Amino acid sequence: MNWENKVRKVVPYTPGEQPKIGGIIKLNTNENPYPPSPAAKAALEAFDTDEMRLYPAPDASELVDAIAETYGVKSSQVFVGVGSDDVISMAFMTFFNSGEPVLFPDITYSFYDVWADVYRIPYRQIPLTADFRINADDYIQPNGGIIFPNPNAPTGVLESVDTIEKIVKANPDSVVIIDEAYIDFGGTSVLPLTAKYENLLVVQTFSKSRNMAGMRIGFAIGSEKLIKYMNDVKFSVNSYTMNRVTIKCGAAAVRDREYLAQTSGKIIATRETAKKELAKRGFTFPDSMSNFIFAKPSKAPAKTVFEKLKERRIFVRYWDKPVIGDYLRITIGTDDEMNALYRALDEIFEEEGK
Ligand SMILES: *Cc1c(COP(=O)(O)O)cnc(C)c1O
Repeated sequence: MNWENKVRKVVPYTPGEQPKIGGIIKLNTNENPYPPSPAAKAALEAFDTDEMRLYPAPDASELVDAIAETYGVKSSQVFVGVGSDDVISMAFMTFFNSGEPVLFPDITYSFYDVWADVYRIPYRQIPLTADFRINADDYIQPNGGIIFPNPNAPTGVLESVDTIEKIVKANPDSVVIIDEAYIDFGGTSVLPLTAKYENLLVVQTFSKSRNMAGMRIGFAIGSEKLIKYMNDVKFSVNSYTMNRVTIKCGAAAVRDREYLAQTSGKIIATRETAKKELAKRGFTFPDSMSNFIFAKPSKAPAKTVFEKLKERRIFVRYWDKPVIGDYLRITIGTDDEMNALYRALDEIFEEEGK
């Protein structure tokens, strides 16, 4: 009866809550409040269900080609997966295989340590500075690989292309992965650096700026060598990760650059207003270049605000942990949703007597 000794035991990642009931203002998982590109809808309507009988193209070439064209790289430099979570998980398995620790910030996407644990990869968490910045020099030390998001999550802080280039350049013996899940909300992508550095992998997703979290599409762009190594691992695990509907809708959506610019522009405008409205209500926050704000309330504990917002059917993200437990991560919704948030905050702070 000792079979459990042979089980791979892990503490799983905890995703944000997906409520089963309607009527919620959902500002807790960084989804986009706007619908996907009309081109995705047209592709879905044109889909012939008879195609469901057949396996999809294992290389998802239609989607890969559309991404390659959009970003001006070769198709052999593009890897696609079931959300960037799948892409990054494959990258961990493919690139982080030395006995040396993989480096990532202590405050960052909380999936990185979970993947490291599940794949038995040693890691070292590098403290951010007091104002939540990444210090490039901290990443110049022996390591088995490097990963961080830019902008970082859950802080929303953007690092410069120069900072990232310094890290990539100083680490020719490791793969450096930059997770650009939020780059379309005003940041500058390091994608052009992939032409210069064979060891740089840039990961992006359709879940945030492309309004398609439910379709599960992520991709990575890097040197042909990096992508070949990733595909070798992927084809050793599961050849058919991307389904036919997703490939078609994703290919149509990614070509619609104008729509991306339009909806991201709206989110950026709402975010800049949100900075003013939250500051007025006593919140402090690092400057966000993403579709969320990591904000610390001064008039009541973050946990209280989180719970009282939830009673009012407004969901934001809260982690009951040291340091980040003083903050709420608030996704930028529509202007109407954000106005409802500000009204609720005013009520809550009044109740709290502030
Ligand atoms: C949302 C997010 C992802 C994962 O997104 P997918 O939906 O799996 O594409 C990856 N990294 C960061 C930092 C994120 O915030």
